[in-house]
Amino acid sequence: MYRNLGKRMNEEDRKMNLLYKSTRNAEYTVTASQAILKGLAEDGGLFVPVEIPKLDVTMAELKSMSYQDTAYAVMKHFLTDFTEEELKHCINNAYDSKFDTEVIAPLVKVGDTYHLELFHGATIAFKDMALSILPHLLTTAAKKNNVKNDIVILTATSGDTGKAALAGFADVPGTRIIVFYPKNGVSKVQELQMVTQKGDNTAVVAIHGNFDNAQSGVKALFEDKELEKELADAGYQFSSANSINIGRLVPQVVYYVYAYAKLLENEEIAVGEEINVTVPTGNFGNILAAYYAKQMGVPIGKLICASNENKVLFDFFKTGKYDRNREFVLTSSPSMDILISSNLERLIYTIAGQDADKDRELMEALKTTGIYEITEDMKAKLADFEGGYATEEETKAAIHDTYASTGYVMDTHTAVAAHVSKVYQNTTGNEKKMLVASTASPYKFIGSVMTAIDEKYAGMDDFALIDELEKTSAMEVPNAIKEIQNAEIRHTLECDVDQMKSTVKAILKAGM
Ligand SMILES: *Cc1c(COP(=O)(O)O)cnc(C)c1O
Repeated sequence: MYRNLGKRMNEEDRKMNLLYKSTRNAEYTVTASQAILKGLAEDGGLFVPVEIPKLDVTMAELKSMSYQDTAYAVMKHFLTDFTEEELKHCINNAYDSKFDTEVIAPLVKVGDTYHLELFHGATIAFKDMALSILPHLLTTAAKKNNVKNDIVILTATSGDTGKAALAGFADVPGTRIIVFYPKNGVSKVQELQMVTQKGDNTAVVAIHGNFDNAQSGVKALFEDKELEKELADAGYQFSSANSINIGRLVPQVVYYVYAYAKLLENEEIAVGEEINVTVPTGNFGNILAAYYAKQMGVPIGKLICASNENKVLFDFFKTGKYDRNREFVLTSSPSMDILISSNLERLIYTIAGQDADKDRELMEALKTTGIYEITEDMKAKLADFEGGYATEEETKAAIHDTYASTGYVMDTHTAVAAHVSKVYQNTTGNEKKMLVASTASPYKFIGSVMTAIDEKYAGMDDFALIDELEKTSAMEVPNAIKEIQNAEIRHTLECDVDQMKSTVKAILKAGM
């Protein structure tokens, strides 16, 4: 008996101290809160937990839990240096009335597929699932590590991330956020969402340039040692809300656990029954979270990675060769128009047997040649994954046909996944129940969605189409859209690409 007790205490002790390693340096470990504060490791690697913890509650217990309770049951295993009180405080401040439904992430059955709707937050896209809690995790982490400075979040955005970060950080004490977007490079809805953002600690700047200019400009500010010193003297330090932050990845594991538990509760599946999951993928964060959920003990069979015409990942899963040297295609699912999926590095590290040297070698090759190839051994460890892609025509057809047969309207990103999931089922005959991560509200990509439903809508004004969609679907216009129709424009700053530094200084000096 004493021996058992001893064992359990060791187990407890180990769990108390789940540490994070850099994918590029085996020697370097940090706590969860330090990993959240840093974002990226100094050697350029990504932080990964030294092992994926197991759930310590049964599915029967999880079945009846709220989203918030599930979040605690999952996240406490990853963020072991947060106290129960701290973590619950973060969770309760994130998953509240900012979401338009108490269940936070509803499951909707469409035909024989289960859609996990991750778009009920403030900006009606799945980034809200993590960006609504990241600010709280970050400020708690700052306190724990005796950071006295205010945290300044700098973000360059092509539309979605910027707004979700603004909404998450607005009026969070101890933080400020400055978002740069390309003046003529975002949709009308996206621009209005940003320039009407409330919150005394928020700033939005339109730059005279494209997204790459904004992104490189922000990167240069992060690397500017002189600016860092100047800011520190004024009581500020920079941080990033980038999707490689472990504080964004961990909250995403929650909804896969939650979805499985709800399928059980609704008696759609039996205890222990495996389901497949299809995820519309860009930076590989969302699907990696599903992989972590599987490793925590959720009965997930295949993880199906759905790409649009930028199908680097499809080719990678087929051949074991990652090759970014190709034409960049602008598609109707812009949040997946990505040729370098940064979070894939965490999977590469895992299948290399946590070999930091191997990981670094491959990532160096990616940087210098744009290509790397994994070994046969590593390839063999990818059996949980399956790749697929949808062309623009197939995406459009998925929206059209699903609407015609069920009345359900999907956004373009979700449609990519829906198409890929059907192809997977038809070609393999695998009959496991299918969960599709539904990542954006159709209202957000309204032009493409309505045109897919009926060509007569092509070229119509976004706001006219919003009324049409409400008439067409059972889905009410979300608050996120209603708000911007009459909201006051609060942000009018513009600058040239070479004025980003002086603009940041001016904003911080003015106290915003
Ligand atoms: C960001 C995003 C994705 C891609 O998610 P990753 O985690 O980057 O793979 C898919 N759909 C929408 C709507 C998004 O905003």
